[in-house]
Amino acid sequence: MTRVFILAGPPASGKGTQCEKLVEQYGFVHISTGDLLRAQQKTNPSLAEYMNSGALVPDEMVISVVAERLGRADVATKGALLDGFPRTLAQAQELATKVKVTSFISLEVADEVVVARISGRRSDPETGKVYHMQFKPPPAEIVDRLITRGDDTEEKIKVRLGNFHKNNSSLQTFYASKLCQVECGADSTPEGVYERVQAEVERLQSKM
Ligand code: AMP
Repeated sequence: MTRVFILAGPPASGKGTQCEKLVEQYGFVHISTGDLLRAQQKTNPSLAEYMNSGALVPDEMVISVVAERLGRADVATKGALLDGFPRTLAQAQELATKVKVTSFISLEVADEVVVARISGRRSDPETGKVYHMQFKPPPAEIVDRLITRGDDTEEKIKVRLGNFHKNNSSLQTFYASKLCQVECGADSTPEGVYERVQAEVERLQSKM
């Protein structure tokens, strides 16, 4: 049976870092809707408008992008790791018509921590990798080419957090039987969080 893990959490909760570690260890196909949508912005400028303002992209657009990716052969053999999807109940309901979700792992991070973290975030336009000047420093040789994402400002993070809270409780209720909450405090390290994320993946792998 295809394994489908969802890694959820507010913006800047460390989903990307945890996904990198999971992909490296378990070989899952990483499906980040933020990355997939950013890659399509050039051919579909309306996407940029939603994304630059911090708003959610309409469900139908996101679902079609994810459905296309989930339908490829590598997902059946390697399993999928969904990052940033589903973000609304409608997306979760639609996903349920396509695959059986194995676990919904939720990184629980307080709003103040998110706001504090966002100011140090930088992205590498060449690789798409995300760094944090304090918590995940980039290699010195690429620092000059790093950019701050247009939606990583304090004003836009408030919009993104608002969207997150509006949808999060209905998503957690929808996935109640598969929910694994991982508490991440201001001083949690990526390694400490990963130990708990990994424990959940191991628990479920052993059942499959
Ligand atoms: P992320 O990189 O996950 O923070 O996503 C960046 C932006 O892409 C979000 O602020 C939304 O505008 C859009 N986006 C990503 N995933 C979704 C989704 N599942 N539903 C709606 N919009 C999304």
